[in-house]
Amino acid sequence: MGKNTVTVIGGGASGLVASIICARAGAKVTLIERMNQLGKKILATGNGKCNLTNTNLTPNHYNGNQPKFVISTLNQFNVEDTLNFFKDLGIYPRIDNGYVYPYSNQASAVLEVLQYEVDRLKVKVIYEEEVNSVTKNNNQFMIHTNKSKYYAHKVILSTGGQSYPNLGSNGSGYKIAEQLGHTLVKPYPGLVQLKAKADYFKRIKGVRVNGSLSLYNDNRLVKKEYGEILFTDYGLSGIATLQISRFIKENIKDNKIKVCLDLMPELEEDVLDQLLIQRFEQMPYKTIEQSLVGLINNKLIPIIIKESKGNPNEKVSQLSKNIRHNLVKQLKEWIVYITGTNNWDQSQVTVGGISTDEIHPNTLESKLIEHLYFTGEVMDIDGDCGGYNLQWAWSTGYIAGLSATNKN
Ligand SMILES: Cc1cc2nc3c(=O)[nH]c(=O)nc-3n(C[C@H](O)[C@H](O)[C@H](O)COP(=O)(O)OP(=O)(O)OC[C@H]3O[C@@H](n4cnc5c(N)ncnc54)[C@H](O)[C@@H]3O)c2cc1C
Repeated sequence: MGKNTVTVIGGGASGLVASIICARAGAKVTLIERMNQLGKKILATGNGKCNLTNTNLTPNHYNGNQPKFVISTLNQFNVEDTLNFFKDLGIYPRIDNGYVYPYSNQASAVLEVLQYEVDRLKVKVIYEEEVNSVTKNNNQFMIHTNKSKYYAHKVILSTGGQSYPNLGSNGSGYKIAEQLGHTLVKPYPGLVQLKAKADYFKRIKGVRVNGSLSLYNDNRLVKKEYGEILFTDYGLSGIATLQISRFIKENIKDNKIKVCLDLMPELEEDVLDQLLIQRFEQMPYKTIEQSLVGLINNKLIPIIIKESKGNPNEKVSQLSKNIRHNLVKQLKEWIVYITGTNNWDQSQVTVGGISTDEIHPNTLESKLIEHLYFTGEVMDIDGDCGGYNLQWAWSTGYIAGLSATNKN
């Protein structure tokens, strides 16, 4: 077996890039994929449009036990490098407020150009074989699948995390790494919807608002996000919700975790109070319910009035100061008690993974096993929504591929 044989385990975003970089450097590359096609998850990204990176890339869009781990990799292969890499493959970018998509708005285009390159470079792709374990003897890896055995001088573990298992990433990479001595930081679903306790959700499902969400654990503010909030029949979704979800790691009891929704974050409480006073004085003949039409989504009005202990049919001219203050409070500090998150089959990214303590940040080589490399979501790093997770996959695929082929 030659010294430049590399086996890449997992043909998702990061494994495809790693395979391409190794093959371009002249390595003999075998790519093993458990599904019947490569990059199935790429097709689902960005609602089928693939938000492949973000021009506002900075390390503070990443989380994990050691978030600074990302710095070296992102410095070595940044957004510009990513755009150039994809331009060279044929992807012309469309940039919308920092969010980068292929100009055709088709995720399938991203997968196709990667697949063309893998084929052109004659990477040997093995489909529908799941790697169960990897062992190392005399400087040689043996890769055991459910059907066969393969040998390689270097191994790149690109199995992804545990999110959306029907798209391929079923968490099996963790076992492979643990058997080789690596430590797993317990994985949780991330970028996922929140389940909440309240009887009104069924009535307001489908309503979208632009507001802010503040997440509290035992009354301590953990995270605040601005953006779209979508009410669903079980709780909350929308980008702002997904962004705070990584901080909820268990099913919760006793109202320990709550989110505070601000439906009008542009207005301070006293300004909103003045606005209501003005509105009520201008149209004293309206009921509370009628007076809120045009200010907030109609479907939310009955709930806001009820939670404020108001009577929807009461004329605003009769309204007490107390109820008006309650309305302001409800609009600015709508409290929702969280009971948990949705499951793996709806989470866009995995929180946790293989500990980055045991991986060299500059090369992505294992500190425990020489010639073993890690890419993408299998590591304990998760990015914000907005192209940051795919950027992590591209950057780590590139660096691991380069490191594996630069080293004898
Ligand atoms: C619905 C959805 C939408 C998303 N949208 C975006 C977006 O728009 N922008 C963004 O930045 N991020 C997005 N993400 C996140 C992003 O897709 C992932 O972070 C990224 O694909 C991770 O790349 P990866 O190579 O680490 O893992 P994956 O892409 O998950 O690939 C892992 C591959 O390894 C294979 N595999 C796993 N175990 C084995 C094994 N034991 N043997 C052989 N093969 C194995 C799997 O079948 C899979 O093909 C989205 C995720 C989802 C689920």
